[in-house]
Amino acid sequence: MNINCPSQVRYWANFLMPIVRLLNIWYTLLLSVVIRISVSVSSLCVLVLHRIVPDKADEWADVKLNTFVELLETLYRKQKIVTRIDNQQNNLDKICLSFDDGHASDFELVLPLLLKYNMKATFFITPHLIGREGHLSWNQVRMLNDAGMEIGSHSLSHPYLTTVSDQQLFTELKQSKVQIEQNIGKEIKSFAYPFGDYSHRTNALAKLVGYEYICTSKPGLFKAGGQIVKRNSVHSNTRNQDMFLLLNQDKYHLFRAQLRYSILYGLKRILGIKNYIKLKQFLYL
Ligand SMILES: [Zn+2]
Repeated sequence: MNINCPSQVRYWANFLMPIVRLLNIWYTLLLSVVIRISVSVSSLCVLVLHRIVPDKADEWADVKLNTFVELLETLYRKQKIVTRIDNQQNNLDKICLSFDDGHASDFELVLPLLLKYNMKATFFITPHLIGREGHLSWNQVRMLNDAGMEIGSHSLSHPYLTTVSDQQLFTELKQSKVQIEQNIGKEIKSFAYPFGDYSHRTNALAKLVGYEYICTSKPGLFKAGGQIVKRNSVHSNTRNQDMFLLLNQDKYHLFRAQLRYSILYGLKRILGIKNYIKLKQFLYL
């Protein structure tokens, strides 16, 4: 078929546009039906952030300080209870905040703001990163704990957990728990997967080791009484309007995020987790 001639291009465009519009309407209707079935209004929204930076975001996971302050002010204005993941009493009007990797900004920038707004959060730390440049010290971890924050484990050395042996997986899950407990003198109940990399095998062993809350990076809402926690990422590309849709548990926004995650999850399986993370950093997805 030769469609190089402008009149033929116009013909095919006129022919195809109504079909595309019809498909779009059907797609929207289908989404609304699926969402009504799958989303519960009594579910809890858990956010995950990483490093907070004073001005320019250097990495995909960075969030600028003014964006973070705006998030907290919005939550404060909406009179949301901002709390830790292990606080599972009375789920209504509650948001859980979590921070991965134990960056120094947890103590230097995040803690003063949480105290100002009377909010709590969960900080997932990796013992092998403690004391390294740009990361928390054990003393700062203890001060976060003393200020009423939850400390959780983010593994011992931050590996891709689906790629390690059963023995190493057990060590990463168990020894991180033991080391943090020895340093803060409190039981560790929550665990978050490095790189959001998990499987049925990692979930089963994390439960066996004794974690009550096992956190993924899969977007969605966390239903009361569950053990596998979905978390919604706030990162350098998160627009203000996306964040507000998320906080309002907007069904379309959540479904779109889940759809995007499913597509990227497929890509992750095809490329392998390490290549996928490199590509994601490169493209700043
Ligand atoms: Zn991490």
